[in-house]
Amino acid sequence: MDRSKRRFVQALGATAAMASLSVSALAARRTTWDLLIVGAGTAGLPAAIFAAGRGRHVLLVDAAPQIGGTMHLSSGQMSAAGTRLQRSQGIIDTPQEHFDDLMRISRGTIDQTIARLAVGEAAETFDWLMSVGFEPLAGHPVSGLAHEPYSKPRYYWGARGARSILEALGPLVDRGVAAGRIDLLLEHRVVELTTSRRGAVTGVAAQDAGGARRELRARNVLLTAGGYASNAAMFEKLSGIPKFVDHSYAYSQGQGLELGESVGGYVRGAEKYLANFGVILASEAQPAPLLARADFYPERRPPWEIYVNAHGRRFIREDMQSVDAREQSLRLQPLMRHWVVFDQSVAERAPPLIVDWEKEDMLAAFDSGAAYFYKADSIDALAGAAGLPPRELAATIEAYNYGVQTGNDFLGRRHLPVPLAKPPFYAIRHQGVSITSTAGLAVDGELRVIRRDGAPVDNLYAAGEILGSGATQGQAFCGGMMVTPAITFGRLLGQRL
Ligand SMILES: Cc1cc2nc3c(=O)[nH]c(=O)nc-3n(C[C@H](O)[C@H](O)[C@H](O)COP(=O)(O)OP(=O)(O)OC[C@H]3O[C@@H](n4cnc5c(N)ncnc54)[C@H](O)[C@@H]3O)c2cc1C
Repeated sequence: MDRSKRRFVQALGATAAMASLSVSALAARRTTWDLLIVGAGTAGLPAAIFAAGRGRHVLLVDAAPQIGGTMHLSSGQMSAAGTRLQRSQGIIDTPQEHFDDLMRISRGTIDQTIARLAVGEAAETFDWLMSVGFEPLAGHPVSGLAHEPYSKPRYYWGARGARSILEALGPLVDRGVAAGRIDLLLEHRVVELTTSRRGAVTGVAAQDAGGARRELRARNVLLTAGGYASNAAMFEKLSGIPKFVDHSYAYSQGQGLELGESVGGYVRGAEKYLANFGVILASEAQPAPLLARADFYPERRPPWEIYVNAHGRRFIREDMQSVDAREQSLRLQPLMRHWVVFDQSVAERAPPLIVDWEKEDMLAAFDSGAAYFYKADSIDALAGAAGLPPRELAATIEAYNYGVQTGNDFLGRRHLPVPLAKPPFYAIRHQGVSITSTAGLAVDGELRVIRRDGAPVDNLYAAGEILGSGATQGQAFCGGMMVTPAITFGRLLGQRL
């Protein structure tokens, strides 16, 4: 393969032209692969790299015109305990402590078998990533602020989010392709699993954009097709709440789950759905793009505003320093949404509320009629504009102002800078959202797809978000517990299959 083509295959550059080259060459090259991987993303790439490194012939099939999957947009925060980097900084940490933190943060709702496997192997994954060129940000690991903090600094990410990981993996995929160990078939959607008469998986059927279908045979099939976070119908069916935000990888359509179910597998964990604390959506479309996020971290910016639910009532002490408590309190509110309410004094005196926006940007959003930004000269009119019950909102503000005056906030809030009394009054509607998939295919401790009776479907494995966030995070957001397990499980299956 010449140099330009090789670069083409490198993570960010692989395109349709390269894929069609592979298509025409495929049949001539091989009729059966040792491992066929459905999805060349976060979990699929390490699986291919490790299997190829052990001399196996791998076929990577992806619906997209590029490899990398969700790594193109993920923040890529990883967590791993017992890494060389930690030791070099004198941080003594163990997988058991990581596991204990997951149990604490998730209140015991993780899948203990899957999560234990993930944390037990995470350090080896992370050390390997660093050995192949991944560089965490200076000063890492950290304990984390984005999610409920761990008890130890074991949280890492690169300068370019998950792209930093992809940039380390790309050349290794390239090497496997050059060595003739990895075949890459892009712009081909796997639409069916083929099986033997006794139900063992024998390969897949894949379809290109023009509908041309080809059958591909393999000794083992690994489903790493990601989640369903971009499939509004499946999201609503499994989460019980509409998909409000469009902020996930477009190819995360849940087809991997359907493929697994088609041969006897089943989906579990839907009840663990949780939303990130609210974001501001760009429009009233459903789903809508994400416009902005408010800074809800009291450690960084003590709140000047109040948060009310659709009943016009406060539901949490706004300066509560637990990310998980904020998320759990929001989970119990109608449609998992809330309004941030304030007055002119706050508008004038508080530090900027919205991340990466100047205060003027926010005030301009009220005047330009941006969706979900409401401003009015009275509380009554504000309630009318924002769709909140006026009497309840007025009572909530009166109660809050009593707390400011006396220091006795009814919810125990301590940061009480100014009463909300000076018109105009403002409200910004925030929507709790999840950009990942909670439910996923059931697997056993060897990551074999299983039936409801626990028996594995022969030759079929799964890794990554297709297992559902609930497996490794439970009903919580545990930092780095999707990217690291995806890479780890891909690595383990690549080594073992
Ligand atoms: C904006 C954002 C930020 C995130 N931040 C973090 C974070 O900081 N830390 C963390 O731990 N997690 C984070 N996550 C979640 C994490 O990034 C993902 O769970 C993980 O990357 C998914 O890996 P995967 O291999 O399962 O799927 P992907 O990486 O999405 O790979 C799946 C691949 O399968 C392909 N595919 C899908 N269907 C088919 C089909 N039928 N046939 C062929 N190919 C198919 C897709 O094109 C894709 O390339 C974030 C997610 C998002 C969206």
